[in-house]
Amino acid sequence: MTNFPYPWFDSHCHFDFPDFNSDRTVIWQQAREMGCIGLLIPGISREQGDRLADVCRDRPWFYAQGLHPYFLASHRPQDIDWLDRALADPAVVAVGEAGLDKVLATDDELLAQQWLWFRQQAELARAHRLPLILHIRGMHDEAAAWLKRSGFDQGGMVHAFSGSEQQGRRWHDLGFVLGIGGAVTHPRAQKLRRTVAALPESSIVLETDSPDMAPAFWAGRRNDPRSLPLTAALVARLRQVDTQVVSAKSISNMSLLFPKLSINV
Ligand SMILES: [Zn+2]
Repeated sequence: MTNFPYPWFDSHCHFDFPDFNSDRTVIWQQAREMGCIGLLIPGISREQGDRLADVCRDRPWFYAQGLHPYFLASHRPQDIDWLDRALADPAVVAVGEAGLDKVLATDDELLAQQWLWFRQQAELARAHRLPLILHIRGMHDEAAAWLKRSGFDQGGMVHAFSGSEQQGRRWHDLGFVLGIGGAVTHPRAQKLRRTVAALPESSIVLETDSPDMAPAFWAGRRNDPRSLPLTAALVARLRQVDTQVVSAKSISNMSLLFPKLSINV
């Protein structure tokens, strides 16, 4: 196996998903050997969130708690009270993933529901003084404008960022970092590649979003954290810096915005 002589961190990884039930330990061991020093697992629902403390026990796996727009139909109004209680757990590093997804919001009613969960979770993040992990598709301007108007000042991460350079800078001005993952490896992602090349160093963090977002070199496969160093190498090439620099900066950017992440480099 190639040796990766630098440490790296997967800033957004659904490593708790059943997709990894048969080989999670093996993949983790190999990722460790490749330099992985930890990962951040987002919360997606109440049912999944209740299992995260056990999943992450005794590992450098950090977790957030949140209600993902993908699972809108399964969220219940009382889940906001559950989330409020879950955020009292000192191990929780962030609220999310929460967000707005234009592709999923096929009618006004669904979009209105997404907004409700999004606003409530932003308010909880502020009340608990925690950063937000956001899933945003086709709604960058609207989401950023609302957070700015509401005075949201906890910052966070826009994961799987695919907006424009201007939108990226706007998020960064609001105190958010941008998760860059497998999407940038696809040859058709020319606009995203130009954006990643142009954004400030302090705005970029590396993620896999495993098991989704498989990079082009793993097309059709389940994604896992071991793909991150190759994606990092491409990001480094686009930005004309060393891979090690991209990786180190990703870790320090995350540590700055997610103070509860105790990443040991
Ligand atoms: Zn995700």
